[in-house]
Amino acid sequence: MARLIFLGPPGAGKGTQAHILAESLQIPHISTGDILRTAKNLGTPLGLKAKSYMDKGELVPDELVLQMVEERLSQPDAQAGWILDGFPRNVSQATFLDKLLQKLGQGYDSVLNLEVPDEALVVRLLERGRKEGRSDDTEEVIRRRLEVYRNQTAPLIDFYQGSRSLVSVDGNRSLEEVTYVLKRVVNP
Ligand code: AMP
Repeated sequence: MARLIFLGPPGAGKGTQAHILAESLQIPHISTGDILRTAKNLGTPLGLKAKSYMDKGELVPDELVLQMVEERLSQPDAQAGWILDGFPRNVSQATFLDKLLQKLGQGYDSVLNLEVPDEALVVRLLERGRKEGRSDDTEEVIRRRLEVYRNQTAPLIDFYQGSRSLVSVDGNRSLEEVTYVLKRVVNP
């Protein structure tokens, strides 16, 4: 049983590493970005509302995201553990998560903070844009997403430092090296 929260700027490798760890721990990888992108591509009411924010690199309003996370964490497969990737993204989401977990009778084991310098993030995201064609991986939107990260998401490092469950990991290394370190952190 593991309950892990991934923190870090866009392009730090959260999605890739969360996917690998989730497979190895056999728990669901819950990415709010993936859920929102699927909703956007399907044109669901949620997706239609989220689209304009996502395309600009802004956070989707909390009222759309919180209920989505509550529903996902309440599902049967999430009772045996989970990895959250891309949520929480601001202090009010983190406060909501604390209350939700209390309500569900759950906690979390570690907050894994992947650290990568901005120059490397921009290079990685532009490369991903070329390969995967993600509409928000363009230079202008990438800059905005990094700003949003600094202003709204980075304060969560302090938020979780207080709970002593924060582990910062140098993400500016090969994928395999980062996986190796993360596995040692979660499976001591
Ligand atoms: P990601 O795949 O995590 O980089 O997310 C892509 C986009 O989805 C972000 O730029 C936001 O517009 C939106 N998004 C994902 N997760 C959240 C969240 N927890 N709160 C608000 N917006 C989110």
